[in-house]
Amino acid sequence: MKCHLCGVKEAVVYQLHTSKALCRDCFINDILKRVELEIKKYNLIKSNERVLLAISGGKDSFTLLDVMSKIHSSSKLIALTLIEGIEGYNRADVLDFMKSKTRELGIDHIVLTLKEAVGASVDEFVKNMVLKNIKIPPCTYCGIARRRAINKVAREQGVDKVATAHVLDDEAQTYVMNILRGDTMRLVQVHPKGPWLSKLFIRKVKPLRKIYERETALYAYFHGYKFQERECPYITHIPTLRARVRDYLYRLELEKPGSLLRLVELLDEALSDYVKKYYELPELPHCKMCGEPTSYNREICKFCELLMSVGLIK
Ligand SMILES: [Zn+2]
Ligand SMILES: [Zn+2]
Repeated sequence: MKCHLCGVKEAVVYQLHTSKALCRDCFINDILKRVELEIKKYNLIKSNERVLLAISGGKDSFTLLDVMSKIHSSSKLIALTLIEGIEGYNRADVLDFMKSKTRELGIDHIVLTLKEAVGASVDEFVKNMVLKNIKIPPCTYCGIARRRAINKVAREQGVDKVATAHVLDDEAQTYVMNILRGDTMRLVQVHPKGPWLSKLFIRKVKPLRKIYERETALYAYFHGYKFQERECPYITHIPTLRARVRDYLYRLELEKPGSLLRLVELLDEALSDYVKKYYELPELPHCKMCGEPTSYNREICKFCELLMSVGLIK
């Protein structure tokens, strides 16, 4: 079958949400065009801005790196990979591959352990937690520590934006989760024009937010990425709200391809005026312990609270 777009080359991909068969080149161009369109539509990144790319080494982050190097000047990009410090989950082969990729693209690549960046690795957190006989999901610490580390490095590097590799599937899940929880504050923060609540936070953007995960998997594969996602040893198989929402949305997408894209587009549109109400909120207060921004109702930030609860700070 010939490609539906160029009509010349053999089609190798069936694009479910448009019911089109595409050749490799048209598939890649389509992704690049859609990312550029999203950046332009919401003015996510200006051409002269320096951007820190937070790349874990998964296929989504590989795609982010490759796509950004094609649509933004490489000299204005810096990559950051954080190593969680979880025994048996170091993924050295993936890191080597990512390092060779950034080298090839001429992009500076910072590699830091969470311990170096924010003071404690995930294993250290868990070890102390066990000693104190309390239960906090390691993912809670990992997520908060990562966000803190990324923001800290972004500030030190003086970049204008931080780009993360969140894809359409993530955006749809987060939107739906926040609706189910009735959490409007978090809901508006999913929106590309969501409020910016502290000058200490470097603005985050998600260039891949209209690209399906299945598409980043193919994009990465077409560019020589051959790794399987590995499971973190701390993963719990208790179904979280995200896991349930993910399952439900996948079934929906399977029955009606394009559902997730329509859902995110509709919510973006519906929330575009609503998010502006949040622009008037005051700047977030600062944590009494570390000086970083904390929620309106907190004196001590969640990060410090976690470290204190396991005795890593006093
Ligand atoms: Zn084609
Ligand atoms: Zn703090």
